[in-house]
Amino acid sequence: MDIKRVAGAFVSLFFPAECRICAQFLEPLNRTFICEDCWNKVKWLRPPYCSKCSKPLSLPGISQGLPSLVCLECQKNHPHFKKVFVPTLYEGVIREAIHLLKYEGKVGVLRGIKRVMEIYFTHNHLLFSRLDLVVPVPLHRRRLRERGFNQAELLARIIARYFNLKLVKDNLKRIRSTRSQTELNKEERRKNVKGAFKVKDKIPFRDKAVLLVDDVYTTGATVGEIAKVLKRAGAKEIYVFTLARAC
Ligand SMILES: [Zn+2]
Ligand SMILES: [Zn+2]
Repeated sequence: MDIKRVAGAFVSLFFPAECRICAQFLEPLNRTFICEDCWNKVKWLRPPYCSKCSKPLSLPGISQGLPSLVCLECQKNHPHFKKVFVPTLYEGVIREAIHLLKYEGKVGVLRGIKRVMEIYFTHNHLLFSRLDLVVPVPLHRRRLRERGFNQAELLARIIARYFNLKLVKDNLKRIRSTRSQTELNKEERRKNVKGAFKVKDKIPFRDKAVLLVDDVYTTGATVGEIAKVLKRAGAKEIYVFTLARAC
């Protein structure tokens, strides 16, 4: 144990950190900023939901996901991706965890996020078996410099390691700095990201089944645009993983 860790343990013994959600004291070894009780309240995405974009559907009486269930939007727009894998809803603990990571730079929270992802992977192992590459949604270099890391890449690394897949991160570029999508509606989001991404070298994507990774799926504008670009670069199939889904 190095001196920093000893000092850290000492500090947390006498000044225990509080859970950022419920304010109860954290166990000294918990470095995720969130307590176990709160982590256990993850809101999992439950069926029924769209088999393409995973949008939760309100169909009274149907409690099991039907493989053929496709939402009206996907029926109309034919997204360029085949399917969105998403374990949780963008609410409660996961929303807080993503905020801690993205806006406060608390990377320790990734340990908790990783556990949530691994629970999902153990139950959905087969879904990932046909993939070749993992590609994080890139940040523009200016945003990357401000934040110091790309949260999508941190999630992509967890997936690549878990499934022993190749991570390709420097071959897809965000060439235009886009406005934050937060305040925009669906149509504005689509326009905002149009033409914002470029593939540097097509060869690594040719005939590959690609998993595109982001933190949150909101309208699907960003991943939809990237899926189109990767398809044009010769990718065979595009799948999407986001940690959470906003609905
Ligand atoms: Zn808590
Ligand atoms: Zn859909």
